[in-house]
Amino acid sequence: MATELYHFVGGKKVKGTSGRFGDVYNPTTGELAAKAPFATAEEVRAVIQNSQDAFAGWAATSPLVRARVMFKFKELCEKHADEIATLISNEHGKVHSDAKGSLQRGLEVVEFACGIPHLLKGEYSDNVSRGIDLYSMRQPLGVVSGITPFNFPAMVPMWMFGVAIACGNTFVLKPSEKDPSCPLRLAELMMEAGAPPGVLNVVIGDKVAVDTIITDPNVKAVSFVGSTPIAHYVYSTAAAHGKRVQAMGGAKNHMIVMPDADMDQAADALIGAGYGSAGERCMAVSVAVPVGDKTADALIEKLTPRVRALKVGPSIAPDSEMGPLVTKEHLAKVKGYVDHGVKEGAKLVVDGRELKLQGYENGYFMGGCLFDGVKPEMKIYKEEIFGPVLSTVRVDTFEEAVRLPSEHEFGNGVAIFTRDGDAARDFANRVQVGMVGINVPIPVPLAFHTFGGWKSSAFGDTNQHGPEGVRFYTKIKTVTSRWPTGIRAGAEFNIPTLK
Ligand code: NAD
Repeated sequence: MATELYHFVGGKKVKGTSGRFGDVYNPTTGELAAKAPFATAEEVRAVIQNSQDAFAGWAATSPLVRARVMFKFKELCEKHADEIATLISNEHGKVHSDAKGSLQRGLEVVEFACGIPHLLKGEYSDNVSRGIDLYSMRQPLGVVSGITPFNFPAMVPMWMFGVAIACGNTFVLKPSEKDPSCPLRLAELMMEAGAPPGVLNVVIGDKVAVDTIITDPNVKAVSFVGSTPIAHYVYSTAAAHGKRVQAMGGAKNHMIVMPDADMDQAADALIGAGYGSAGERCMAVSVAVPVGDKTADALIEKLTPRVRALKVGPSIAPDSEMGPLVTKEHLAKVKGYVDHGVKEGAKLVVDGRELKLQGYENGYFMGGCLFDGVKPEMKIYKEEIFGPVLSTVRVDTFEEAVRLPSEHEFGNGVAIFTRDGDAARDFANRVQVGMVGINVPIPVPLAFHTFGGWKSSAFGDTNQHGPEGVRFYTKIKTVTSRWPTGIRAGAEFNIPTLK
């Protein structure tokens, strides 16, 4: 019997009333694991109102108190790390160690948020004019919301609510309906950590919930992470409704391999970044770009046996390197891309489409796929596949290698593998992509820097977490003050100028 999930509002589990549900499967077994209630617009509005009611009290707490809640939350998540990682693996399919790693990366943002008293410090200028002082402060916005994708059910919500709540906002999280159990558990732990009811509410839902959030006048800012078409829709709709918005979208991350690169290191990097989490990462490397045929041949020779030998297995088995894909539909979509690539004329060097796992025949498994001879005009190059499929595009020169990711529609991450410092520096300066790795395949910045792509990978002006996150979730106020005992200025009819 599948468990019926709930919303988490005002510190309590709240049963859905819509009668509409989304099915949550365990991708390892293909069994129905839970029923996720899809909220009605009225239910979502009630959740937003609950967060609105909690706002004034939370905004008035000292940043020190808020930091202590974040410290405690981090401690509780660490205590329950295995349990949280199991929730992630059972609904997402990523292997347990990777699920734990993603929790850790989320908690690094919480650690960053523990420094909020320092991060919120304003600026002060003494005596800007005779007897006049000027200072600035950062204030929370009110109710803010996060709409998140299936692929990081702990980390991406923490990118958002970790910073937003520490800044004094109250938060409505609308996680992916495909794996909602982890975010629901996180909200419980926030309450246990001492966050007052309503400071973190979780509403489960689909487009109805999203549309209500991005148009409700009480929601002051929306942070979205997901696919590009929805990111663009959320960005434009929420902005048209007067909200501050940041909306991160899809990706097609290239890894350039220069002829002087350490080929074993490059192959290790491509295997981990291409097939880890079954390629369901927005920073997964999905395109290898070897420079010169000799480099390409050497790389394909190294990659081929390793892709064939990937240990595909149940997500909770300790020796699995790659688990299943998230849903049956997504598996079919990824395999469809591979079929299409073959039809387009790319050479499928390793074909993982037919993999079946004994004992898990209904699980959403496929093996790793490796393409050579992919051309920029092919659909498998242009579109995001989001699966364990690595495409190799051969180029002849460094210039072509700079141009390829720069001209791609997406601009999330890119990497270059080389021993040549000049080439690496030149590449990092000129490439039109938001996050660059030099001999680092998945250049996800640490929490105290910021995360965000360029072009169709992100809409809006500010990145996730780091100082940009603090700016996103606060508004600045400047105060100019003079005490009455100062000099009497008399009525001023001209614009104030320095005296
Ligand atoms: P998705 O766009 O399908 O869903 C994301 C969120 O939007 C979910 O909460 C979902 O319920 C909601 N949603 C879906 N369809 C909607 C609609 N028609 N109207 C309103 N809301 C809708 O994305 P996904 O499949 O959950 O996640 C995978 C995608 O996320 C990939 O494209 C991946 O690259 C991207 N991603 C990007 C980043 C980044 O930082 N750039 C990080 C992680 C994932």
